[in-house]
Amino acid sequence: LPAEVTHLSGPGCPVCVTHDAEIAVFLQLATREKIIIATFGDMLRVPGPDGRSLRHAQAEGARVEVIYSPLDAINLARAISDAEIVFLGAGFETTAPASAATLSTARREGIMNFSLLSLHKLVPPALRALLSGGAAVDAFLLPGHVSTILGIAPYSFLAEEFHRPGIVAGFEPADILLALCLMAEQLAKGRPEVVNTYRRAVADQGNPKARALLAEVFRPTDALWRGLGSIPESGLRLAPDFADMDAFVRFDLSLPEVKPVPGCSCGAVLSGGITPPECPLFGKKCTPAHPVGPCMVSTEGSCAAYYKYRIQE
Ligand code: SF4
Repeated sequence: LPAEVTHLSGPGCPVCVTHDAEIAVFLQLATREKIIIATFGDMLRVPGPDGRSLRHAQAEGARVEVIYSPLDAINLARAISDAEIVFLGAGFETTAPASAATLSTARREGIMNFSLLSLHKLVPPALRALLSGGAAVDAFLLPGHVSTILGIAPYSFLAEEFHRPGIVAGFEPADILLALCLMAEQLAKGRPEVVNTYRRAVADQGNPKARALLAEVFRPTDALWRGLGSIPESGLRLAPDFADMDAFVRFDLSLPEVKPVPGCSCGAVLSGGITPPECPLFGKKCTPAHPVGPCMVSTEGSCAAYYKYRIQE
């Protein structure tokens, strides 16, 4: 990219935005008797406030199962009737409908030993929080996968209130370049808009069926984001009709006060304050093999991506 363009990775990786307190709560749950944590693999390695992860808990005897679809968690619940299966629901509007569908399935089939620990988060409130906090971002490359569910209307405030271009883009290099061209054009003309350039996957109105499922199963709630703090109405908790399958309710859980991971600058990375190599631990104490913070854990994490491509260069 030309020197005038700086591409910052924002709060778009589910593992990275999961707050230390949320990690602490599922680590604590994993130590209880007759609990099996069902999770996608990335969550296994993300370090909590004391540097321990689910992998450490697993090594000490906690029952943790890596799954590849939320429906695998239902299969676990069917197969192991003498334990409680708790699915860690993380991610944004992309993954939340699958969690909602899984809860509906469990309800329909009368599966009683299944619950969801909802750590799901919503993208538009985080973008609003970033801009309200004065983030030095001129334009937004909006997430194509989240937009398949949302469509483009929920982003309209970017242009209308904050006068920033917002371009929904796909993931191929040509998609990204097209989005950058449109941003540059809009900024040059002083006419910011929200535009969908990923029409082969994203309908302008999104996926109403998935949103209806979300509305049935979840309610928006204030949520803690790593680096951004508490953002109003930016998370999803279970609706009252599904409270019996809410792991927070079923196991009487609440988010503890925690200290941030010492030395980790993930918060500054996620809010565009620094790029990963500006973190003093990057590539030294913190690597994908030995991550100190969550941004180095998932391949979607900014620090892991910078590390991978730095080595290739
Ligand atoms: Fe955190 Fe590691 Fe990234 Fe530094 S390099 S911000 S310690 S994840």
